[in-house]
Amino acid sequence: MAMNDTQHKPKRPAEDESDPNSLSVDAARERINTAIEPIREAESLGIRDALGRVLAEDVRSDIDVPGHTNSAMDGYAILAGDVPQSGTCELRIIGTSWAGKPFSGTVRSGQCVRIMTGAKLPEGADCVAMQEHAEREGDLLRIGPGHQPDQNVRHAGEDIARGDTVLARGKRIGPAEMGLLASLGIPEIHVVRRPRVTFFSTGDELRPVGEPLEEGQIYDSNRYTLYGMLSRLDVDLQDLGVVPDDREAIENAFQRAASDADAVITSGGVSVGEADFVKETLEHMGNVNFWKIAMKPGKPLAFGRIENACFFGLPGNPVSVMATFYQFVQPALRRLAGETKAEPITLQVPCASRLKKRPGRTDFQRGILGRDADGRLVVESTGMQGSHLLTSMSRANCFIVLPADSGDVEAGTLVDVQPFEGLT
Ligand code: AMP
Ligand code: MG
Repeated sequence: MAMNDTQHKPKRPAEDESDPNSLSVDAARERINTAIEPIREAESLGIRDALGRVLAEDVRSDIDVPGHTNSAMDGYAILAGDVPQSGTCELRIIGTSWAGKPFSGTVRSGQCVRIMTGAKLPEGADCVAMQEHAEREGDLLRIGPGHQPDQNVRHAGEDIARGDTVLARGKRIGPAEMGLLASLGIPEIHVVRRPRVTFFSTGDELRPVGEPLEEGQIYDSNRYTLYGMLSRLDVDLQDLGVVPDDREAIENAFQRAASDADAVITSGGVSVGEADFVKETLEHMGNVNFWKIAMKPGKPLAFGRIENACFFGLPGNPVSVMATFYQFVQPALRRLAGETKAEPITLQVPCASRLKKRPGRTDFQRGILGRDADGRLVVESTGMQGSHLLTSMSRANCFIVLPADSGDVEAGTLVDVQPFEGLT
């Protein structure tokens, strides 16, 4: 039987993308973590103004929450022991306990008190019977079996006991934390000063939006994605615009940026092209900790220090900017801001698509996490994975993280997924 050429062609081994000078993703994270010192300066803010900020001190409670033992239901405060094992009994209603207006007397055997949700449990009572489980006739309540002590009762200090550390230093304040602080009666707290971050784009081809493009030019999109990602982190931003591929201009921008920043972030100009001056300038004016990571997208990433600022020279390609920002810059800025926990959420789910990958680098492919026809979580690829395709980031809702040694991934394989929502 004749076979055609393609059937006979030996399969070429997948090209290895490893580079001995690249750091692994984990090693790069470790280096960044070691190099970054959290900001120590703090300021005092009213709790509403502290939303999104990081606590500079532990918060202890001076009170019990709830402050008094109270009812979880609208019903009747009774003595559970009054109710027989079978049949019904009658109790005399001797008053009402409202939320904020407690009943001041004591409930004795044979008596009960009408009670509302959140109202203080009167002395003597140890149980709240739901109003749906009792029948009222004037001052009398007829009630059946099945009531235990503590039923529908919320105990003083059940949520927070006086003296408890409720929130630890390093916690970022979200809506729940603001509510907690308010529940403790705390009007002001100490938070870490916001990190000051300066950023700019590099590239002769870049035009700001609103201006016409000439041949070979493109719009500067990286400053917008960076602005968006940085704004969500609650940092003080300074945008230095676009800096041309010119040694002197880049040196000047570095100087300006570093004079007042805790972190400097650039995009473009970190690879090995003729016009890539960022790494060289960093070497010359500060120091380079590393500049290559075994990841895709985003292999060139210059990390180092310039004066008092940590420096991130991100690659130019728009998807690389986002991937390196989320994987390295964001955790670094969170650490700088004094936040103690900044781990992204990772899920393991089956991948519905076949994924192309060469061994050698950790891939952060763009995926869409959803449910299959049976309601199970599943991820699929957004399709083409070029690092210039910003639409792939917009269509995606997660990174599919493929370990460095992995090759192609067959459909149906379990893969690690980082939902974007868990990153922000
Ligand atoms: P570079 O790292 O400077 O060689 O840039 C790599 C690629 O990213 C090139 O195609 C650049 O045109 C593109 N690029 C660099 N900076 C930006 C930017 N700010 N916005 C959009 N694309 C950019
Ligand atoms: Mg460039």
